[in-house]
Amino acid sequence: MADDPVSRLVPFGAGNAPPTPGPDRPVDLRSDTVTRPTPGMRAAIAGAEVGDDVYAEDPTVNALEAEVAALFGHEAALFAPTGSMANQIAIQLLVPPGEELLCDADAHVVTYETGAAAAIGGVSTRTWSPVGADLDPEVVAAMIRPDGYHTVPTRAVAVEQTHNRGGGGVIPLGTLRELRRVADDAGIGLHCDGARIWHAHIADGVPLTSYGELFDTLSVCLSKGLGAPVGSLVLGSTERITRARTIRKRMGGGMRQVGVLAVAGRYALRHHVQRLAEDHVRAARLADALVPFGVLANPVRTNIVPLDLSKCGFDAPGLATAARQRGVLVSVLGPRTARLVTHHDLDDADVDRAIEVLTAIFRS
Ligand SMILES: *Cc1c(COP(=O)(O)O)cnc(C)c1O
Repeated sequence: MADDPVSRLVPFGAGNAPPTPGPDRPVDLRSDTVTRPTPGMRAAIAGAEVGDDVYAEDPTVNALEAEVAALFGHEAALFAPTGSMANQIAIQLLVPPGEELLCDADAHVVTYETGAAAAIGGVSTRTWSPVGADLDPEVVAAMIRPDGYHTVPTRAVAVEQTHNRGGGGVIPLGTLRELRRVADDAGIGLHCDGARIWHAHIADGVPLTSYGELFDTLSVCLSKGLGAPVGSLVLGSTERITRARTIRKRMGGGMRQVGVLAVAGRYALRHHVQRLAEDHVRAARLADALVPFGVLANPVRTNIVPLDLSKCGFDAPGLATAARQRGVLVSVLGPRTARLVTHHDLDDADVDRAIEVLTAIFRS
């Protein structure tokens, strides 16, 4: 249907429709980035008021930036095309070239951003052993290096909320407050990769402002659980976000009538935040069904079900292939690790089908 030339000309033609539930549509559990804009979101996109955002004249982008900054109690925010760019802008804001950022060894910023901190920011990174959401501020404190002509001075720490490779775990607010004290004592910055901070907010009931006040910079994604097609924001002080505009332009992220994308984010903030609770319930249901097979890597807190297959007879590619043949798509993270992610485009029937397929595979 996507190849039908007519549907390409019709704004809400069949090729553009979100996938309809049915036996032929795969249950796609690979990521929460696979969602497609809903009809309501598409209508908002069609009606967006726009201007040239490089001139800061796109009213929809300006409104989104003000709205998201206010949600977290920050002075300012900047729209960026991707979460990776938002993170890398923040890292460049907090850490000068040749100096150091500390983070978890499994952090997105050092795992899935193609070495950008080093290649673009000239930033040295040092990592603590991967602990997901079980962050220990004392371990971080012990790693911080002071200024000195022969050292690599630590300038900032980055944490991830929720923790992606940490199985969607949520760092407790109390731990983050301790980490803030550690950063203050050392006089260094604190960045939050909050691609899925919405999920932490819903899972722990922590107000977004309580997260916002702990960090010098945050990045947040509109294109993960919130279901917008594109977009992230970096948040900080007015002074930092002014510098961030220059860094974004330097990285090729200055966009023009991008209100057509910002409006999708504004729509998602209104309609898709509270419903994340449904994704969490569905992930918990998937996890419960898999408990008997001993394949859960850690308890499920949000929308990610991390699988550790080392104690069962499967390797991750084998599982993914067997599941795909039965219409269920899962993500391979390593030879024996895989991931299931729930999201906006799945319903209860999809989860039932995934449970049926996966339990049949694990039983075989
Ligand atoms: C997805 C994600 C990002 C941003 O990814 P992009 O694909 O660049 O938008 C950043 N951090 C985490 C933890 C993520 O899961």
